[in-house]
Amino acid sequence: MTPAVLLAATTVVLLTIGGIFGHRALSRLTPLFNRFPRLALTAWFAATGVWAALFLALGPVFAWFGSRQILPGAAGEVCQRCLAAANPFGQASGPVANTLPAVIFIVIPALIVVALALRGLRTTMQSQRTLRRHGRTLDMVSTLQAQRVWVLPDAQLGAYSIPLGRGRVVLTQGTVDALSKSELTAVIAHERAHLRQQHHALLAWVRLLSQAFGWVPLLRAAAPVVGGYTELAADDAAARTVSNPVTVARALAKLQVLAHDGLNHARDLAGSAATAVPALHAAQTEVPSRVRRLLQPAGATAMPRCLLTAVGSYLLAAVAVVLTITSPYVSVVIMGAC
Ligand SMILES: [Zn+2]
Repeated sequence: MTPAVLLAATTVVLLTIGGIFGHRALSRLTPLFNRFPRLALTAWFAATGVWAALFLALGPVFAWFGSRQILPGAAGEVCQRCLAAANPFGQASGPVANTLPAVIFIVIPALIVVALALRGLRTTMQSQRTLRRHGRTLDMVSTLQAQRVWVLPDAQLGAYSIPLGRGRVVLTQGTVDALSKSELTAVIAHERAHLRQQHHALLAWVRLLSQAFGWVPLLRAAAPVVGGYTELAADDAAARTVSNPVTVARALAKLQVLAHDGLNHARDLAGSAATAVPALHAAQTEVPSRVRRLLQPAGATAMPRCLLTAVGSYLLAAVAVVLTITSPYVSVVIMGAC
């Protein structure tokens, strides 16, 4: 087996293992991730990003086996020189080599990257338009605006953050009236943690990959799981701010009880729910587990060393493979070797 074949086979194997079994491995780390939600966010971000990079590297690695005879004349010669310079293993040979033009394997992932970038750009622009419109509504109807917190004259429960400008936290008067001062501080800290830790951007990234590669179990599972861990990370930040996790738990419990009494929570008053992150998710089913987590002292969590080693090794191997494949192409572009 030649080095080029070995690298191509490794890429396919890593892609298959990560795509099919990655979410199961990460799910088995839930006890550890519940204790360290920011570690969970890092792991899920890395796993989804590495999988997408491996997928896009498939084309460049298979290009080493394709034919360099693409175009006649000078343009074809330049193209051949580029492809030759980007292949550290030399021209492949054998029955599968030269059956398809190598350039196809470069063009397809390039088109996927462009499509993903355009989709991300369009979503971001639509989101920013909605946020700016929402921001103008907030400026007009809020009864109080201080320290990047906007209060709306609405008796229903509502609290969320929006990544507009330096970030805004929005509360309804109903929430302000329902909570004590320390609980309100916790809610605001929770929302600010969403903004500071870039949870909106992280969720947008994961959703983009989920939509593009929804047929891959790892990426299909990512968006809801990552959304849950952003809440835990924001809960922890709120607990640190008020120096008391019980206050955060009490705020969560109060909002849930009031929501069950018939009040809505986290309602986006300007109709931009797609871009708003609800505060504390007080009426949702995971609230009891979040309250329990805040109230229970952090006991010793068994360190799943084998699983952590396996996940870490997978990520390192995948990054090494992606770099091995893409670095010759990058150097060709940078050095102008063709
Ligand atoms: Zn939240």
